Amino acid sequence: MSNPKQQEYLHELGDDQNIIDRTLEWFRLFASVPHGSWNEKALSDLLKKKFEDLGWATEQDQWSNLKVDVPGVPGLDHLPPVIIQGHLDMVCAVAQGSGYVPERDPITVVVENGILRSDGRSSLGADCGLGLSIAFSVVEKTLQRGPVRLLLTVAEESGLEGAQLVDPAWLKGCKWMINVDAGSTKSVIVSCAGAWRERFTKPIETVSASAAHAYEVVLNGLKGGHSGGSIHLGRGNANKLLNHFLCTLREKTDYELTGLYGGYVGNAIPIEARATVVVNDKNILFETAEFFQTRLNEYYKNIDPDVKIELRETPCPEQVWSREMRDSTLDLIALLHNGVAAMHDTIPGQVSTSANLGVCRANEQGDYEVKLSVRSHEPFQVEVLEARHSSAARLTGYQASFNSSYPGCSGSLDNPLALLIDRVCQRQGGDPMTVKALHVGLELGVLGSKNPDLTAVSVAPDALDAHTVTERAPIARFPVFARLLAGTLEELASAE
Ligand SMILES: [Zn+2]
Repeated sequence: MSNPKQQEYLHELGDDQNIIDRTLEWFRLFASVPHGSWNEKALSDLLKKKFEDLGWATEQDQWSNLKVDVPGVPGLDHLPPVIIQGHLDMVCAVAQGSGYVPERDPITVVVENGILRSDGRSSLGADCGLGLSIAFSVVEKTLQRGPVRLLLTVAEESGLEGAQLVDPAWLKGCKWMINVDAGSTKSVIVSCAGAWRERFTKPIETVSASAAHAYEVVLNGLKGGHSGGSIHLGRGNANKLLNHFLCTLREKTDYELTGLYGGYVGNAIPIEARATVVVNDKNILFETAEFFQTRLNEYYKNIDPDVKIELRETPCPEQVWSREMRDSTLDLIALLHNGVAAMHDTIPGQVSTSANLGVCRANEQGDYEVKLSVRSHEPFQVEVLEARHSSAARLTGYQASFNSSYPGCSGSLDNPLALLIDRVCQRQGGDPMTVKALHVGLELGVLGSKNPDLTAVSVAPDALDAHTVTERAPIARFPVFARLLAGTLEELASAE
């Protein structure tokens, strides 16, 4: 606190307006060229040129990932570089009927009433362009800091793909990494989830239908949500609930089934599922559905109050699933885990492992297919879940396959970089920061796995409604984030 050199940045960064102006200049560069996932080359080239004009050494790989080395001040230039990392791509949300073409059109940046936003036709790209713009406006100033390495990746939003392609040599020798994509000026993220995909398949076997009345059973009205960010809310999963209904019905009467279908992608909680059942006694079907609806109303009254099960009469199908196909599938879906599987061991109240039974469908090969998306900070918990699910597959005659998408990082509350950032925040007059885990994928997991010596956290400027056309950020918070980054870089240099 008393060391005047550590406070140098307060003068060097300039006043609030100065920081805001510089940030907006950088941000307008991002906005000037389309940069959806796997369309970042123009932006990467543009930034590379800008950085080279500033005298910074750059290296770009074949995918347009960009490494930029910003020298430290004399006397501190020998220190290992601190990595500041973010992604170049953005999620291009478009307002319906706006005529906006994200592959072609620049983003119109609007600053109004203290808010940075787009013109409402497209998303803004503050995720993650704003964090990077503020970082650039900090590192271009002469601070009492060592070297900084900017590590700018492509295709984060399409599944952390660019980060996975980064040459591990780009991280070699580095000790600290600050990702500017997640968290806020009030929270630091120390742990993120890895992702795995599970797939279960079986050739569909059919026989002639013999029962009298056919009904389509539709389960819908659920809220759904992101399979990582919303899994702790306990919302209903349409595939699981409809399967539960079909299992309940099986206990009461014999019926024929043409399959259970629901969900489109693994990382969304499915909101609707359908099945066609053929029964002789339609009264039992109606009674069971009525009873099931009361149970749904009771259990989901606060979580998913609009959930409903409907029966719609439909022409009798000629073919239905064989008895074995019906039973093995209902049993498989019943046995597969859905929802929270385990809580975090070091971060209280945080989900560690979860599964989302995202998709039930017939695939192009004529097989029935069940897809599960698993997230976890802990690979061991995933191994345990996979072992259980392979038993379920074996018992039901399904073929199982398990794939890893990207790694997470387990993290802990005493992450030294998070503690340092919190100290800097408080010294600058801020409240103590919350140290958190996120149950979604972040590049700190992927890049951290390429250098085990790296201590990494994520902290970001305050912004709202990412991935939507109302994405926005309060400009008065830019200087808060800029000073937090500047103070952190100086503190890391003085601690060496
Ligand atoms: Zn992002």
